[in-house]
Amino acid sequence: MVADGRTIYIAGAGIAGLTLALALAKFGATVVVLERTEKLETTGAGIQISPNARCVLDRLGLSRPLARFGFVPESIDIYPYRRPKPLISLQVGEEAAVRFGAPYGVIHRADLADILFNACRRFANIDIQFGVRQFDMVSHTKGLSLSVEQANHSTIEARPFAFIGADGVHSRTRTVIMSGPEAKYSGYVAWRTMIPISMLADNHIIARDRVSLLWGPGFHAVAYPHPHHDRFNVALFTKEKLGDPNKVSKVQEPSLPKMLLKSPQIEALVENAIAGWSMWPLNAVSTSEWHKGPVGLIGDAAHAMLPFQAQGAAMGIEDAAILAPLLVTEPDGQSALARYQSLRQKRVARVQRISASNGSIYHMEWPFSLIRDMVVSAQGPVGHFNRLEWLYGYDPNPEVCTVQTTQHFS
Ligand SMILES: Cc1cc2nc3c(=O)[nH]c(=O)nc-3n(C[C@H](O)[C@H](O)[C@H](O)COP(=O)(O)OP(=O)(O)OC[C@H]3O[C@@H](n4cnc5c(N)ncnc54)[C@H](O)[C@@H]3O)c2cc1C
Repeated sequence: MVADGRTIYIAGAGIAGLTLALALAKFGATVVVLERTEKLETTGAGIQISPNARCVLDRLGLSRPLARFGFVPESIDIYPYRRPKPLISLQVGEEAAVRFGAPYGVIHRADLADILFNACRRFANIDIQFGVRQFDMVSHTKGLSLSVEQANHSTIEARPFAFIGADGVHSRTRTVIMSGPEAKYSGYVAWRTMIPISMLADNHIIARDRVSLLWGPGFHAVAYPHPHHDRFNVALFTKEKLGDPNKVSKVQEPSLPKMLLKSPQIEALVENAIAGWSMWPLNAVSTSEWHKGPVGLIGDAAHAMLPFQAQGAAMGIEDAAILAPLLVTEPDGQSALARYQSLRQKRVARVQRISASNGSIYHMEWPFSLIRDMVVSAQGPVGHFNRLEWLYGYDPNPEVCTVQTTQHFS
């Protein structure tokens, strides 16, 4: 079989995989996306999209649907433990757009998945195959030979230019094809729920139109609205000892220590969590090998991290923006992936480090928490922009970003 020109195969139609497919298609490459599920995964909760990721998505032509379905909060309100009013309101929203060329917003995952999928469907050079049962490949002097068992059990053979594993934290591409490491349980879990916004309507304990970040000894929570779904997204993070993190039941009640309920905001959220909670063990991936020849990794498959800086998906989106032009310009898949790896690893490792250290900062016990609060307060409402300029102001393809108008809460 002869090699398929520059046909690039991607395993996984998640945020990273679909962003890469779209970015490649815009350069004219032929892309085949292999997705294990029968249809697009539209479950899940909310996601914060910081300006560094939003710039990439805007440039892929998604600014209008993102502005339509997303929400741009004015601030992130920080509430230290048992404090009825925010310690500080960190500016995000329009302030971020002015400073970094794209707003800091939130969106429901189902909407983001739909936006990416619908954009991909407009390209005849993207083929998304659902229900894929298995893929295997061998690397040889002439490149890659790939075999894919499709939904109907038939097998197709191909000779891709490169194969990219965007198949998430438990990536088969990483663990089986590349013989890389398994993901490791971080010791933290996320408890997630959605609350009808109207249930918080007259509740002044927590703002309905902002991101709230609640800090406490040994836990923290993040809550923000999805006005289009009339839902308030809540994620509560605690440390849990789990036997086998991959076998725990996802639907549970949080084992909330009494101390958590002394936080008025958490108490309000717990009271109104009528849909129940689902528990997600948080796994992390640490590997320095993001490619083996023309087989590479992006997104969580390469670098799943703690979500405490809200950057996991953002890093996958950036990966796609860096890798796509390399895959269409470099002479072979191996050199494209080698360059991508050298351009990305330092930055992603830094983001992984701050995400992990945020866990310790957010969960601080008294009296250290007092010092933390004084420092955060002294930095002021745009202090985080100065501290995180390297993160939010990063532009993988240095062109001018489109500044979007924000959608206002009604
Ligand atoms: C509680 C929580 C909050 C978060 N909040 C944020 C946030 O605010 N901002 C942010 O940027 N990030 C956030 N993240 C991180 C973010 O969710 C992930 O980093 C992101 O979804 C990873 O995208 P991905 O495309 O790499 O992987 P995934 O979303 O896991 O997609 C992988 C895809 O590959 C498919 N797949 C898997 N195996 C195979 C196979 N063998 N064959 C074919 N297909 C396969 C899967 O079905 C899936 O569609 C958060 C994470 C958590 C847990």
